Amino acid sequence: MIDLKQYGYTETEKPPSDLLPARITAVHRERYELISQSGTQHGKLKTSTYYGREPHPFPTVGDFVLIKEVQGGDCQIVKTLQRRSYFSRLDPDPSGQKEQAVAANFDTVFIMQSLNQNFNLRRIERYLALTWQSGGTPVIVLTKADLAENPEKHIEEAITVAAGADVVAISAKTGEGLNQLIPYLKPGQTCVFLGSSGVGKSSLLNALMGSDVMDVSEIREDDARGRHTTTHRQMVTLPNGVHIIDTPGMRELGMWENDVGMGDSVSSIFSDIEDLLGTCKFSDCRHETEPGCSILAAIERGEITQERLNSYNKLKREALYAENKAAAMKEKDTIRKDIDAWWRHRNKEVW
Ligand code: GDP
Ligand code: ZN
Repeated sequence: MIDLKQYGYTETEKPPSDLLPARITAVHRERYELISQSGTQHGKLKTSTYYGREPHPFPTVGDFVLIKEVQGGDCQIVKTLQRRSYFSRLDPDPSGQKEQAVAANFDTVFIMQSLNQNFNLRRIERYLALTWQSGGTPVIVLTKADLAENPEKHIEEAITVAAGADVVAISAKTGEGLNQLIPYLKPGQTCVFLGSSGVGKSSLLNALMGSDVMDVSEIREDDARGRHTTTHRQMVTLPNGVHIIDTPGMRELGMWENDVGMGDSVSSIFSDIEDLLGTCKFSDCRHETEPGCSILAAIERGEITQERLNSYNKLKREALYAENKAAAMKEKDTIRKDIDAWWRHRNKEVW
């Protein structure tokens, strides 16, 4: 029998006798892979809890859920348990729940940047903001140390924006620095990798696994259109009992990449709410309990849901944070460019 505590389950209250706690290890179209005391199995959502009047959030990788076992078939997922941390994005599917969690119940977040081309302080700051908000603890992991000409300079820079988060430099290729990750990889804990494509997430996972799991566990699946897509297990367990979440959804979390104005994208997605702004009685209305608030009135009339307003407020806070930080960083960037220019000039003179 599997002890779910080894999978980070901390709930002490016993669920109803016909239900079992389980953890989601992979999400496919409408079908979930999960692990419970009985082992690995598949599950499907119970319609009344997930599509009813007060729908539960759809489970995501890392979620703890309660399941009802079904003889000879997929079990039924009846409840998503309270998350202690999660990352989410706006659900690209309009029939979905607007906010879509992409990873849940992690302890540590490796914010990954490569030391050769991908290094970008502003991006580190954005990922830090996301991580603090998620409930996880960030660690800045600078990758491909074997390729860096001057890793110390980047480490120093990263420390200046880290605001207390640890900074480590590693190479998945040579193994350099990997032992610095040990304190964050404790048995039973869950870690997620956050970083742009190509920074070395798969390579780090493979180095930690001691084998090529990312390749080995690749499975072929038919999707609805009959096209072949390749997916891999989304939560894997290292030999020492640490769980690593690496989902495709996580890769899309860098919603500020390419300098897309976060403020703009929030507005266009929440135009129904933004249209009502400025029509409240008080100009500094926070749309919480204020009298004469037109957004609260729209909720009252059932035109906007409270959850949607919550998502809007949450994203707006993130956007504000990113904007303030971006302004501060612009100044720093200019100074850094000046130093770089001076450095290049100086080197030319020397050589
Ligand atoms: P992912 O997209 O974040 O999963 O990145 P990958 O792990 O697929 O790595 C992208 C590329 O970087 C591959 O060509 C890797 O071989 C290379 N790479 C990853 N880690 C290292 C490293 O520590 N040193 C060097 N030299 N190359 C690396
Ligand atoms: Zn208002």
